[in-house]
Amino acid sequence: MNERDSEQVARMFSEGGYTVTKDEFDADAILVNTCSVRDQAEQKALGKMGHMGKHRTRKPHVVYGFMGCMAQSRGEELFTNVPHLDVVVGTQKYHKVFEYVDDILSKRLERRMDDVELSMIGESICDIAEEKGSQNTIKDHLEEEVNPSTFVSIMQGCNMKCSYCIVPDTRGRERGRTIADIVDEVKGLRDKGVVEVTLLGQIVNLYGRTEFPRVDGKSPFVQLLEKVHEIDGIERIRFTSPHPIGYRDDLINAFTYLPKLCSHIHFPMQSGSDRILKKMRRPYKNAKFVEICNKMKAARKDLAITTDVIVGYPGETEEDYLMTKETMREIGFDNAFIFRYSIRKNTPAGDMEDQIAETVKEERNQDLLKLVNQMAIDKNDSLVGTTQEILCTGLSKTKSDTLSGRTSQNKIVIFEGNAERMAGKILKVKIQRSTGFTLYGTPVIH
Ligand code: SF4
Repeated sequence: MNERDSEQVARMFSEGGYTVTKDEFDADAILVNTCSVRDQAEQKALGKMGHMGKHRTRKPHVVYGFMGCMAQSRGEELFTNVPHLDVVVGTQKYHKVFEYVDDILSKRLERRMDDVELSMIGESICDIAEEKGSQNTIKDHLEEEVNPSTFVSIMQGCNMKCSYCIVPDTRGRERGRTIADIVDEVKGLRDKGVVEVTLLGQIVNLYGRTEFPRVDGKSPFVQLLEKVHEIDGIERIRFTSPHPIGYRDDLINAFTYLPKLCSHIHFPMQSGSDRILKKMRRPYKNAKFVEICNKMKAARKDLAITTDVIVGYPGETEEDYLMTKETMREIGFDNAFIFRYSIRKNTPAGDMEDQIAETVKEERNQDLLKLVNQMAIDKNDSLVGTTQEILCTGLSKTKSDTLSGRTSQNKIVIFEGNAERMAGKILKVKIQRSTGFTLYGTPVIH
């Protein structure tokens, strides 16, 4: 989601006549889009910004800015942490970043022509206010970076209150864009060569629940899926991340009659213990989560399910942990992100007294990783010898003389071929071998 927000900001700079550079040495404005999910991410962003302050000595006009979740939660305080900082812009104001930075930069450059010393006289801006309709501002993409598989932000915010999560504070209440607006964006992407879209939301299946009505028993999210499915040229649709609440039969059924929906869901489970789910303020039981997974597998036979799990949550006993492990085995995930719980300030879980010792968290983390890795290896091994449909996304990032793509189940496949001819195409590839996490194959030529 942050990447998508950053792309929107980059597009505004590009439209304003700037060139986007990834090399901080070249930059006149340096912006860091921040994440607050883990304390570590905030420390990293602060460290990076501190380190980049050195460019001021060479280029006194450089503008520094923080955007995103940490900017939203810490606000003005960041100017004390980072004295060279100029701009702090929250999660509902991405569309204002260009205006703020351009204004400061222009003033500095004008002044510098008169008096170099004056260029350092600061003007800083902190804008973390709420803005009605901000969800409608994340809709443009960089022209020069068309990826055949692209993210589309359909909503912002989350009304849940998971006790370990800071998102409701940093991203606000759920706000959905209209179906018409999203469809327009997807058509525009299609015209530029995009064939696969991933619909993004903090709690994506609950899209529009407070704004738009159910129609014929279908949620606004399923209505949106149907409309995107109608778009010629869009061959694949994904979404992330759904929540068990609101994951109803209309969405499960959609996988039976919308063939463009890819055979993969990333479905955060977090814990297999009802007691811990309750402490996490996740308002469902483990049995419900398992039931949805089973119904989804029945609706789509080749479905891959991946998940997020937190180990070492405050109060997690060995028994709770073993329930999580058992559920993971029972569902048979294709892969999982395992997070060792770490205290996140300003969340209810951060204040819980029954924190778990780091050594125990680490043991559980390693133990679960072993299981997850084995499940991922087994699933990939079972694909060797099969022919899979791959969306070729271009040159492989790890081995640049080969191409890379993903199956409908979101598994990465590396193969040889001509990037110009194959990028953006859905191809049949015979899987020859698996290294556990990556598949290697040969295109099937007819
Ligand atoms: S549903 Fe997700 S984004 Fe919302 S509060 Fe829970 S963990 Fe955070």
